[in-house]
Amino acid sequence: MSFPYKGYAGHYADIDLTKGKVHKREMEKEWARLYLGGSGVAAKILWESTGPDTDPLSPDNVLVLGTGPLTGVMFSPSGRMMFAAKGPLTGVWAESHAGGFFGPEVKYAGFDFIIFRGRAPTPVYLLLRDGEAELLDASDLWGRETNVVTDMMREEHKDPELKTAIIGPAGENGVLYSCITVDIYRAAGRAGLGTVMGSKNLKGIAATGSLGIEAYDLDKYLEANDKEMEKLNNPLWTDSLGSLRNYGTTDLVAVINEIGRLPTKNHWTGFYDDADDIGPETIAENYRIGQEACHGCSIGCKYIYRVKDGRFAYGPAGGPEYESLMAFGSNCLNNDIESIFHMGTRCDLLGMDTISCGKTIGFAMELWEKGIITEKDTDGLDLSWGNVDSMVELVERIAKREGFGDVLSKGVRKAAEIIGGDAWKYAVHVKGLEASGQDPRAHQSIGLTYATNVRGADHLRSLSSLEELGYPDIVERRFGKEKTKAILDIMSPKHKGEVVKDIEDLYALVDSAVICKYGTMWPPVFYFDTFESVIAPLTGMQEWSNLRFVKQAAERISHLRRAYNHRLGVTRKDENLPIRLKEEAMPTGPAKGGLPDIDEMLDEYYDFRGCDRETGFPKKSKLNELGLEYVAKDLAKRNMIAKE
Ligand code: SF4
Repeated sequence: MSFPYKGYAGHYADIDLTKGKVHKREMEKEWARLYLGGSGVAAKILWESTGPDTDPLSPDNVLVLGTGPLTGVMFSPSGRMMFAAKGPLTGVWAESHAGGFFGPEVKYAGFDFIIFRGRAPTPVYLLLRDGEAELLDASDLWGRETNVVTDMMREEHKDPELKTAIIGPAGENGVLYSCITVDIYRAAGRAGLGTVMGSKNLKGIAATGSLGIEAYDLDKYLEANDKEMEKLNNPLWTDSLGSLRNYGTTDLVAVINEIGRLPTKNHWTGFYDDADDIGPETIAENYRIGQEACHGCSIGCKYIYRVKDGRFAYGPAGGPEYESLMAFGSNCLNNDIESIFHMGTRCDLLGMDTISCGKTIGFAMELWEKGIITEKDTDGLDLSWGNVDSMVELVERIAKREGFGDVLSKGVRKAAEIIGGDAWKYAVHVKGLEASGQDPRAHQSIGLTYATNVRGADHLRSLSSLEELGYPDIVERRFGKEKTKAILDIMSPKHKGEVVKDIEDLYALVDSAVICKYGTMWPPVFYFDTFESVIAPLTGMQEWSNLRFVKQAAERISHLRRAYNHRLGVTRKDENLPIRLKEEAMPTGPAKGGLPDIDEMLDEYYDFRGCDRETGFPKKSKLNELGLEYVAKDLAKRNMIAKE
């Protein structure tokens, strides 16, 4: 029977790079019905095709690119693309998303998913065009930076609108946190998915398409969509949306510093005295020259910058987001905003994750301060805090894996192992992923978010902004009146296990639908009922109009991704925080004295998740309830299932 659902392109490409074969296949009905798309479907594919014996940089690893039913259709914000594989930086589940126009274009070119297996004997790229998928020679593109490659592809195919996802030299060279740069200034940044592409000799994917996406019941879908979009107009969100539209995520530098959560000096503290120098007003007044939106987005948070003159003159180009301002700024005690623009842009063009790159440099600066490394280790570079010349040079050396740059190209966990001694104490990561721009000593639930996130210390799988922004009505509606006061207290661990589990499930749907988190995370407009309203009329999958089914699907995806990690050996001991964030009380700033009570929050989280407190493993009854019997059987064989 042919694929029955609408809202999807209806096909995927399964590509054997070793043999140079492209297989175009019809979408699997059960992928859509049970896992929706994006992250959920990728979890199913990677569960079946990779495991403990898969070396992430070998031809055995599998790279999945995925869209979802809401990608590229009338829904704001819907211009996203998901990438997933077993991660080379962490050795566990790796997933990253990028905005722009690439995701929708892949769908218009006729594909919901692209699966890459094997390794091409020589560099190639994939061209997707109106139902066709073709591997083409990339020998001329290899070694070049992402903007040059995009220009060359556009010229080659005489299509200035060609959408691209490209790796830079860093991905080719095996830097473990290489990103996939999308449409030149957006990135699937985290966890080294660009490194996986590089290991496959895959330089990029280019897409152009004119195929439409049909709705099952267009009138009903438009009506449901209008109702959801109307929610964005609620005056409650005016400030949040206004700040995103006016400042993009740069506003977070000020907001987060104000509560003492801004990683500063390699997470030594959460308050940066010079935050104004790298903050929203400085950027808006001196450098911001425009604002852009991803496909179909009514928010439009991406800003364009230009540095007019001086050593770092450049632009127009996509401006660094909050995380890059933090990583190369406060984290390294660097208040030279123009150098941050420069390093952010160099990372885009070289194809490196700005967070891991900046965090790894900050880690090295602290080792320098402590005398654990000296000029002998750094090839003569002075790594004093805020030394812009050394930072700029290190970015280039990391991308080339040259000298000390090679040590730092492996991320903080592996670099600490190589350097030895007490270096590990200053490596701020979970599961090998450098912590993003949040300090859990100033916001308890972020500690739990970092600990339980399947890809490591990152806020994007379950960050709750409810407490921080203080929407009591919404918290009360979602979690009940008696818990509201404690939930709104960002320094209290109470009920945070329930909140993080709930948000993790919600984001599992967002990442499978595949849409942007703004509108769900900040401000918290969309909830499970959004999916209950829009998925069924769009796709014709009638079960999705049942809220219980929607929530079960969300839990199914969360559990499958967690089980993927368990099978690789992840247990409660890995769902923890680095010593700095767990044992060193916040020394300065508004959150002075703060420490997350990670153990209490984890206990509650495991209870709500249906897992064992001691190991973190899931209960068989929970997996069976979610239709994950095949997962329960596999984990049981490995003694990785909880006692009932
Ligand atoms: S909110 Fe920003 S990142 Fe999200 S889709 Fe819109 S422009 Fe893109």
